[in-house]
Amino acid sequence: MLKILNPATHALIAKVPADTAAAVKQKYQAARAAQPAWAQRPSTERIDVMTRFREQVRARHEDLAKILTSEVGKPIAQSRNELNGVLGRIDFFINNAAKVLKDEVVFADRGLEEKIAYEPLGVVANISAWNYPYFVGANVFVPALLTGNAVLYKPSEFATLSGLEIAKMLHASGVPQDVFVAVVGGGEIGASLARQPVDGIFFTGSYATGRKIASAAAKRMIKVQLELGGKDPIYVCEDADVKAAAASTADGAFYNTGQSCCAVERIYVHESIYVDFVDAFVATVRGFKIGDPRDDTTYIGPLTRKAQLAVLKRQVADAKKKGANLLMGGKPLTRKGHYFAPTVLSDVDHRMEIMREESFGPVIGIQKVNDDNEATRLMNDTAYGLTAGVYTPDRERAEKILAQIKSGSVYWNCCDRVSPRLPWSGLKHSGIGLTLSTYGIQTFLRPKAWHLRSV
Ligand code: NAD
Repeated sequence: MLKILNPATHALIAKVPADTAAAVKQKYQAARAAQPAWAQRPSTERIDVMTRFREQVRARHEDLAKILTSEVGKPIAQSRNELNGVLGRIDFFINNAAKVLKDEVVFADRGLEEKIAYEPLGVVANISAWNYPYFVGANVFVPALLTGNAVLYKPSEFATLSGLEIAKMLHASGVPQDVFVAVVGGGEIGASLARQPVDGIFFTGSYATGRKIASAAAKRMIKVQLELGGKDPIYVCEDADVKAAAASTADGAFYNTGQSCCAVERIYVHESIYVDFVDAFVATVRGFKIGDPRDDTTYIGPLTRKAQLAVLKRQVADAKKKGANLLMGGKPLTRKGHYFAPTVLSDVDHRMEIMREESFGPVIGIQKVNDDNEATRLMNDTAYGLTAGVYTPDRERAEKILAQIKSGSVYWNCCDRVSPRLPWSGLKHSGIGLTLSTYGIQTFLRPKAWHLRSV
């Protein structure tokens, strides 16, 4: 049995039967048997099924938001935002699937035709994270199903109830039971799933787990996509609107209690506005309401996983020891639940873990820089490469800096943003492969080359 605990209260909210390794194998075999018939259905039918799924997510919005908040501790307003946002992602996939699936004749002359036709990969494993279960799940299972794949979906053990709701809604919308199969359990069940002879593994989670999955899959010559962590930097130039930049980046750092893969994790500020920026930033963070995630006005809730409290404590202690200035927070809150006080550190540098290791919580370091060159060098001084941003009214300057940044996404005067229309990918320890955009539909397909000679 998997015990589901509420991170805000430690209360046991549910016990869910977990899969065994033998059950995972059976689920794989059933999915393998069911996939061809699903792939043979006209794509318009699969699009209709997904349109019904979208309607269920919309209709059950409040109920799903409450479940999400209860198991993940996400403030309810942010759970609602996620459920609203996922509708736009589903719409994008629904509206673009037919275009991507269409055969392309790339050459036709004197009896010779060359054509690219797209076939599903087959059976794919989707091993998912808890921080945005609807977003990161839908990035995979919606396009995978639309393109005719069967999906073995393992929600995170910290978001199992939401994962099971997703399965229920997909089945009620017309996805056959064995074409979308929830696999329930923790890391060892994820490992069992990754061992099945699937045609692709699509993983969202930490770099440490991503590495294990990549090495387990390496010998099998299958597609592996890894959407991993980040240490996403922002640079605030001296000509930026200080208050607006502070408000925007504070939201980017603390939204979802800092537990976003693309959360702002490092801030570099030009020395001439450093003091003003830090003051404005701290004032913004002091305005964030910490509390019960069920409360409509709560902005910062508990951390989902208790173990992360120790990581944050260690990062803060390391920074203080090396000379950082703790401006607010710095320790767990003395209340029930896994709460860590919103934490801002100034006078930080790259000797400190807080500027190098993913924090994944409500903590941030703000470092002073002399010029664009130093900011660019420091932004690139990381093992990760998910997103990076620059705040300045000068678009040319921002583009010049961002062109030199090694990351999958770059932002000008915005941050912590994902669009279904754009590819979502990471470099270095942030992963391999991509989701979203039309490339994120194509990634579930295998282009087959047809050489057709009529004479
Ligand atoms: P995690 O790596 O602990 O777990 C992710 C999933 O892997 C879970 O379902 C877990 O049960 C499973 N798992 C654990 N060990 C496994 C193993 N040995 N084999 C197979 N599966 C295993 O990560 P998490 O705590 O769920 O998520 C947080 C991390 O995810 C952060 O680093 C965050 O930045 C990253 N993330 C990245 C993106 C992105 O799009 N790049 C999005 C969301 C989260």
